[in-house]
Amino acid sequence: MVAALVGYVCAIKAAQLSKKVAYIEMRERLGGTCLNVGCIPSKTLLHSSHKYFEASKHFAEYGIEFKELSFSLEKMQARKEKVVNYLGKGIEGLFRKNKISYINGFASFIDQNTVKIKQKDGNTENIRAQNFVIATGSEHISLPSISIDEEKIVSSTWALALKTTPKKMIVLGAGVIWLEMASVWSRLGSEVTIVEYADKILATADADISKEMQKILEKQGLKFILQTKALKLPKPLLGSP
Ligand SMILES: Cc1cc2nc3c(=O)[nH]c(=O)nc-3n(C[C@H](O)[C@H](O)[C@H](O)COP(=O)(O)OP(=O)(O)OC[C@H]3O[C@@H](n4cnc5c(N)ncnc54)[C@H](O)[C@@H]3O)c2cc1C
Repeated sequence: MVAALVGYVCAIKAAQLSKKVAYIEMRERLGGTCLNVGCIPSKTLLHSSHKYFEASKHFAEYGIEFKELSFSLEKMQARKEKVVNYLGKGIEGLFRKNKISYINGFASFIDQNTVKIKQKDGNTENIRAQNFVIATGSEHISLPSISIDEEKIVSSTWALALKTTPKKMIVLGAGVIWLEMASVWSRLGSEVTIVEYADKILATADADISKEMQKILEKQGLKFILQTKALKLPKPLLGSP
C-alpha cells in the first residue's frame, strides 16, 4: 500500500502499477497549488485580461470598432472558478477510475508506517502503509522586514482572488509568477511597478529572452526598477489606502 500525500500524478501512476493508494489532501478540492491557486487560475485570468487588452488596444487597427468597452471582474473570477472546478472534478474522476481512496484532511506522521489524518470536523483516523510519498508543496515566504499580511502586502493567492482592480501595485521580484500577475492587473487598469534585485527580469532565463520580455511588458504599460533591493516600507505607506 502506498499512502500518497498529494502528487496526484504519482498517486495515479502508483495505482496503475497495482499499488493500493490512499491520497490525503487538506484542501477541499484536489489538484494542489497548481489547480487551486497557481497555474490554472493564473492562466484563466491571463486569458481574460488578454482578450480585454486586445479589444481595447488593438482591435481598432483591424477596423473593429465599438462605442464602449468594459469588463466585469466578477464574471472573469466566476469563469476562473468554473474552469478550476471542472478540472478538479476531472481529477476526482481519474481517482475513481484508478480506485484511489481520497481522504480530505491534514496528515501528520505518527511513526514511519502510520499517518494520522485530522478531518475538518475534528475526527481523526490513522492509516498504515509501507511506502509514503510526501508531496506537500511549498509556502510563500515573507522578506525579513516586509511580512505578508494578505491585506497590504500580499501573496499570489490573494492577487488571483481580487474583487476590484487596485489603482497601484508594487511587485517585489520579477519572477515568472508575479510577471503574470502584474500583467493581468496592468491589463485591467492597475498602475504596476516591478522592483527587481537582479539586473534583468526572469533572472534565470536567457538574457535575450529576458530583454525581449521586458520590452513586451513595458509596451503593455508595466514599469521596471532593476538592480534595486526592497528593504522596508516607509512608515507613511503603512495604513494608507
Ligand atoms: C500563481 C502561481 C502560478 C503558477 N504557474 C505555474 C505554471 O504556469 N506552470 C508550472 O509548471 N507551475 C506553475 N506554478 C507552480 C506549481 O503550482 C507548483 O510547482 C506545483 O503546484 C508544485 O506541486 P506539488 O505537488 O509539489 O505541491 P502543491 O501543488 O503545492 O501541492 C501540495 C499540496 O499538499 C497539501 N498539503 C500540505 N501539507 C499537507 C498535510 N500535512 N496534509 C495534507 N495535505 C497537505 C496542500 O494543501 C497542497 O494542496 C505556479 C504557482 C503559483 C503559485
